[in-house]
Amino acid sequence: MFGFLKQVGDYTREAVGAAQAMTQGLGVTFDHLRRRPVTVQYPYEKLIPSERYRGRIHYEFDKCIACEVCVRVCPINLPVVDWVMNKATKKKELRNYSIDFGVCIFCGNCVEYCPTNCLSMTEEYELAAFDRHSLNYDNVALGRLPTSVTTDPSVIPLRELAYLPKGEVDPHGVDPNRARAGQLPAQVLEGLPKPPAASEAAASSKGGADA
Ligand code: SF4
Ligand code: SF4
Repeated sequence: MFGFLKQVGDYTREAVGAAQAMTQGLGVTFDHLRRRPVTVQYPYEKLIPSERYRGRIHYEFDKCIACEVCVRVCPINLPVVDWVMNKATKKKELRNYSIDFGVCIFCGNCVEYCPTNCLSMTEEYELAAFDRHSLNYDNVALGRLPTSVTTDPSVIPLRELAYLPKGEVDPHGVDPNRARAGQLPAQVLEGLPKPPAASEAAASSKGGADA
């Protein structure tokens, strides 16, 4: 009889222990259900770079005077300005211009000091490549217009930590009614300038042609 009661007692203790463990596990699960998302679903969602973000450099060949100021102010003398002297006109003729983004530290010195403003920092940050040598951009690659998170229709633009209230960095236990610090993707899109409708664009181009 005593042995039977002991078995029942042990069984009850184990059952209570298992129930406690399950409750703790489910507590973690339900805590996650109350959290707000903080991850960015890249590449479908992308963070909007800050206004002064220093991304891939854009270069305008036609404005470059081959002065090589960009080379002199670069901490690693990186830009390659390929020019020849035209003896007839006694002027430099620019042949090619290149920057190797596998080496560039994106300090922005070249952009800052270029006398003709033919260099500019863009918000393009997706420079991954299988071959590091393909990061050596010539003047054609540098002249390509940069991609933009806010104008790419296939991407939902996000502001950093937009999902969390101001000053909040931990998503645990955040009251869902508290105001968010940033804008939701739909609000960001609402605030962007609308592209002109096809009919308006056609009308304006016709007006320009008439004038
Ligand atoms: S951003 Fe800086 S490191 Fe890169 S090319 Fe310009 S000056 Fe050189
Ligand atoms: S500083 Fe500007 S204008 Fe001069 S070589 Fe460099 S890119 Fe061209």
